[in-house]
Amino acid sequence: MGGPPPAQPADAALSQLARLEAAVTRLGRLPWLEVPVPDEPLQVVRHRIQAAARCPESALADGQVGQIDADLAELEHQVTDRLTAMIHAPGWDPGWRSGAFEQVEDEAVACPQCSRPTATRLLLRHVVSPQLHLQTLQCHRCGDIWWTTEPGPRTVDLSGPVDVLGRRGEPALIERTVANHGAHPLRGSVGCAFRRRRNLGMPGGSVQRLVLRPGESKAFRVAIPLAPDRTPADTHSVCVVGLFAGTLVTSLVMLQLA
Ligand SMILES: [Zn+2]
Repeated sequence: MGGPPPAQPADAALSQLARLEAAVTRLGRLPWLEVPVPDEPLQVVRHRIQAAARCPESALADGQVGQIDADLAELEHQVTDRLTAMIHAPGWDPGWRSGAFEQVEDEAVACPQCSRPTATRLLLRHVVSPQLHLQTLQCHRCGDIWWTTEPGPRTVDLSGPVDVLGRRGEPALIERTVANHGAHPLRGSVGCAFRRRRNLGMPGGSVQRLVLRPGESKAFRVAIPLAPDRTPADTHSVCVVGLFAGTLVTSLVMLQLA
């Protein structure tokens, strides 16, 4: 007696297809940020979503919807892999050099790194493609803490210390926590690389696939081997990027090598 009627299979399939369509649309905007998203595979995924939406019940029953989800995650993995290679050389940044964004919000907040009231959360909107946003938290003392393409509360984030100490000749340990704050499972990939350090002979990056249940957090851990004779004692910037359902999240690490 009472309670809402059970969800129909077609409703469940259509909701999942709507989330996939939204993810494909978000992914399709990322080339504005010089993220290397290939057009053709993205169109193939979109056509499969359209076909599945015509007969949602059977698309769910024969596993098509799950397969589209898996294939989209694989496409995001390839994009993350290419982006990680770009970070290593010639270099990539989350968009701070673009002149096409306008600031639409700013809010003074406490810095999650140093706890001082010296941070600002900014929301930027792309003037030419106004659905594309960049949100960032920056501290006067610590620098860039995070970037995301989500305009509102973050459903996925990467967190961890900005300043990390390392020693030449020992692997550089890069660790982030990846959290899914949303109501749906997330599949995607996280990668990291030294920014613009291929010219110094420093090793390339690493990419991992991740699946996160709603509310789940997982660790992303990478040990990058550093040859003592080829690695200058200096501060090296490491860019960590995550791509989940078309949302790009970025976290920066300043590795001080002694
Ligand atoms: Zn700070």
